[in-house]
Amino acid sequence: MPRYSFASKSYRTAAIVLRTHKLGEADRIVILLTPSNGQVRAVAKGVRRTSSKLGATLEPFMLVEAQLSRGRNLDIVTQAQLKSPYGHALSQDYSRFTAASAMADVAERLSADETDTAAQYRLLHGALAALARGDVDPVLLLDSYLLRSLGNAGWAPSFSACVRCGAPGPHQAVNIPLGGVVCHDCRPAGSLSPAPESVALLEALLRGDWATAAASEAPARREAANIVAGYVQWHLERVVKSLKLVERT
Ligand SMILES: [Zn+2]
Repeated sequence: MPRYSFASKSYRTAAIVLRTHKLGEADRIVILLTPSNGQVRAVAKGVRRTSSKLGATLEPFMLVEAQLSRGRNLDIVTQAQLKSPYGHALSQDYSRFTAASAMADVAERLSADETDTAAQYRLLHGALAALARGDVDPVLLLDSYLLRSLGNAGWAPSFSACVRCGAPGPHQAVNIPLGGVVCHDCRPAGSLSPAPESVALLEALLRGDWATAAASEAPARREAANIVAGYVQWHLERVVKSLKLVERT
């Protein structure tokens, strides 16, 4: 007589809720980023009933500890405990909310076919926590997150050494397809010539140097944001829709 083990069907994991959609009358599909189970798509049953505690927990940008059971197509969330309710702070402020949405979009794209998502998870967790604290400008946090998450995915930009020959910077020209600054000798036609302050800001965002980033002026922020958006689009090969919603100063 065959023996069935149900132990392997169920698993427990920390997760960040990236996105949710409605399913049928009362259910919801949740897209989760986990540190060691990759990106998980799961059904949460009955969560759209007002009495559902699970429903309030499984909202975008919430950090949860979830119990799931493996299904044929989608997993099922059987339990979820709220660890950090970032979603509450982020849903009450439009600029933080749009920055968080853009981060979640990019995280979803970058983790779609990945199994090793520990670094992406840590990065998104740190960025959402900082957004929720509200002590850094949301657009600066978003741009820093975008540069670092693309770096994690294998497209690390450079805003100090020349991306072609490695000559130490600072350099004046930026080439988006090449991934950052290029020196005078390597500079291909069609490279951008941003202000030195903008390049310095990009370097600060990549390093997470918030003191330098916070001291930057609006023109540098605008120019740096355009370069980051160009870099993201170049690598993700489509316009990330939520980036268009972010109000840039
Ligand atoms: Zn060079």
